[in-house]
Amino acid sequence: MATVRLENLRKEFDAGDIVAVDDVSITVEDGEFLTVVGPSGCGKSTTLRMVAGLERATNGRVYIGEKDVTDQSARKRDVAMVFQNYALYPHKTVFQNMAFGLRMSTDLSESERREKVEWAADMMGIGELLEQKPDELSGGQKQRVALGRAIVREPDVFLFDEPLSNLDAKLRVEMRTEIQRLQEELNITAIYVTHDQEEAMTMGDRMAILKDGVLQQIGAPKEVYRHPVNEFVGGFVGSPSMNFIDVLARPAGDAVALESEDGSFRYQTDSATIDTETQLTAGIRPEDVHVVDTDGIDATVDVVEPVGSDNYIHLDLATDFIVRVDSHVEPAIGDRITVDFDDRDLHLFDPDGEVVNADEQRLSALA
Ligand code: ATP
Repeated sequence: MATVRLENLRKEFDAGDIVAVDDVSITVEDGEFLTVVGPSGCGKSTTLRMVAGLERATNGRVYIGEKDVTDQSARKRDVAMVFQNYALYPHKTVFQNMAFGLRMSTDLSESERREKVEWAADMMGIGELLEQKPDELSGGQKQRVALGRAIVREPDVFLFDEPLSNLDAKLRVEMRTEIQRLQEELNITAIYVTHDQEEAMTMGDRMAILKDGVLQQIGAPKEVYRHPVNEFVGGFVGSPSMNFIDVLARPAGDAVALESEDGSFRYQTDSATIDTETQLTAGIRPEDVHVVDTDGIDATVDVVEPVGSDNYIHLDLATDFIVRVDSHVEPAIGDRITVDFDDRDLHLFDPDGEVVNADEQRLSALA
């Protein structure tokens, strides 16, 4: 077990034309499960590869435990990495695939190696596959072997690079739980890269969100979800995505009056104070909006999208405004309905996308 500390990590490609990772500092605590998430090309894999020693940092340091490993080769680092494409040796059996790393990096005897492989195979439920070759296995089984190969080494740190992306949706959900169980049982520090915000939210003790190589926010999933520090994080985390409406904000006594350009969205909030008229963006999550009888915002129903347990009601409200409701709420297209939301669920962002109403009071309300 070990902490992993990234200090001002930077990675440039093509002589500095591409900055893949830009001044990222993160400390992953001992035994913690950190998910790293962001859109394609945001620098997730490059960050992970620098921790693994597969990519050399242009600047900054990587520490595993107290040790500065920045200039150490991958082989010398006590980490095990699991890849999306499994990276198994096709001509070796499952047993040989799992034992290979042990042969290279330890001086265990053959019987000790066998014992360890059998222990890991047992843990992954693949004991009966040990004599098979990878091309005789399903995708899910191959990923179990790849996980078993990582476990068998009992590393200080697990690194996962989108390990479940090649699996079908049902298996992916099963394997998520399995990976979490393993990590908890073995209590090994883990960094898990994914582009799937739901995966990042459900698996991580904390999640780190990257955009254009820059760390946007790091925190417990619930904290990031409730208190995104900027518009990007607000929009990236949560599904369906947060609704955003451009509004003019005016001082109204101690409160702030918000109005969209077309006048369809009007709301008064106590969550911020301003001195002069300001252009802001209001962010409201679809699940934070409720259909009410009176006293709210009136809007016309454009589309009702059933997704099983819920309905997504699309409203013509300054934008395509989505409300997530129970599937029993089924207004007809063209109906006028009234919606409302709690002032605490309103996120206000300035023109740079930074949140402006995340005050102490709201943060302590969550705790
Ligand atoms: P994805 O989810 O698509 O894998 P990612 O967030 O993992 O994306 P990276 O693979 O880390 O992103 O890539 C970050 C940026 O660095 C991208 O613009 C990518 O094109 C670039 N990049 C990565 N590796 C190299 C390389 N070897 N040479 C040049 N550019 C690279």
